[in-house]
Amino acid sequence: MPQIINLSSKIENQLPAELASFMRLAGEVAQSQGQSLYLVGGVVRDLLLGRTNLDLDLVVEGDAIDLAQRLTEIKQGKITTHPRFGTAKLRWNKWSVDLTTARSETYAKPGALPSVKPGSLNSDLSRRDFTINTMAIELNPSRYGELIDRYGGRDDLNHKLIRILHEESFIDDATRIWRGLRYEQRLNFQLERNTLKLLKRDIPMLDTISGDRIRYELECILQEEYPEKVLHRAEKLNVLQRLHPSLKGNGWLAEKYEQARQLFSPASPPIGLHLALLAYPLTNEENEYLISYLRLPKSLAQILRDSISLKAKVELLADPELAPSGIYHLLSGYSSTAIIANSLASDSPIARQHIKLFLDKLRYIKPALNGNDLIRMGIAPGPDIKEILERLHEARLDGKVSSKRGEEELVKGWISR
Ligand code: ATP
Repeated sequence: MPQIINLSSKIENQLPAELASFMRLAGEVAQSQGQSLYLVGGVVRDLLLGRTNLDLDLVVEGDAIDLAQRLTEIKQGKITTHPRFGTAKLRWNKWSVDLTTARSETYAKPGALPSVKPGSLNSDLSRRDFTINTMAIELNPSRYGELIDRYGGRDDLNHKLIRILHEESFIDDATRIWRGLRYEQRLNFQLERNTLKLLKRDIPMLDTISGDRIRYELECILQEEYPEKVLHRAEKLNVLQRLHPSLKGNGWLAEKYEQARQLFSPASPPIGLHLALLAYPLTNEENEYLISYLRLPKSLAQILRDSISLKAKVELLADPELAPSGIYHLLSGYSSTAIIANSLASDSPIARQHIKLFLDKLRYIKPALNGNDLIRMGIAPGPDIKEILERLHEARLDGKVSSKRGEEELVKGWISR
């Protein structure tokens, strides 16, 4: 008989009291409906590791939507359901929990999204990526807290190993290659020997995955605490090159990511900044390829385009004689994330200083007078107004004028000439 491990005290100690008591309640309600309920996946792994994780994933043998509806009534929460997939999301106060009907999956062809049908907990666990993610905890009252470990996940956790469940795993779904590197680097684990061998063998299968799915995995990586570790490992294994051969997960990138963390601390740098620094070595055309391959949303695509186009101008920003209005004209119109990426990427302290001046001050400076004021001063409506406003803006930027009265004097002088 395998030893029974009960994790109920870990649940009580490591999760907020409200979530712990929710799980007891959910187990009782499931039981009263004749269903079986389990806590599964990343949160079980992290409970055993003592890491914080509040993403509760519950699997129901039966009907997750039924259970979620009953729990929503009791908690007076909000529910979103996807009947086609048998899933529900329940939200109350500041909490949210995902409930999924246990399912089994078959893959019509490598890389395709699987077709899904209702199944048992066992079949649900057998379709998962790595052994450390296959553990579950019983939530029905009679066995509350008991660990279910069908694939030796706990052993692998103790040995710090990332291991796939079967030899075809990366062929079925090559996004697991990126996922494996992400967990390995996040947890300071190692890919188990045979898993590493199969991962190397199956790298070409990455080409069977849609850009959307690769983008999702890349976004997950760029939101890790140390994305550079994953990108470095991916370069060493020739995985990064599948995204684009010119991308580098090198020491330069690590240094820039560290500077970005310091700049944004205690918050995390935005994902667009990490992406812009990763894409920094690319040419215009290479960048366009990456944008369309990953089907980047408009905002991220704009950051990458701005960042690469600014790259060609950073040298001009390193000129110590550059006037504030010159700095303004070089930088205005670009997204601030792209500007910050260029500041971090630049080796010139002067360029960095100029960029800081723009971000802290220059971009907010505007003349006090507007078109109506100029018309009131006797200037005919037309192109002159625009030109005068531009000259006033420059005078403001360069500190030649600092009040409305001063601006009026300047304009009067220009008119009289
Ligand atoms: P994280 O801590 O990064 O959120 P997680 O384990 O919660 O990790 P999710 O991406 O939320 O990860 O996925 C939830 C679970 O679904 C995982 O634990 C894993 O078992 C499973 N899973 C996700 N993607 C795949 C995949 N491509 N193949 C197999 N199983 C997957």
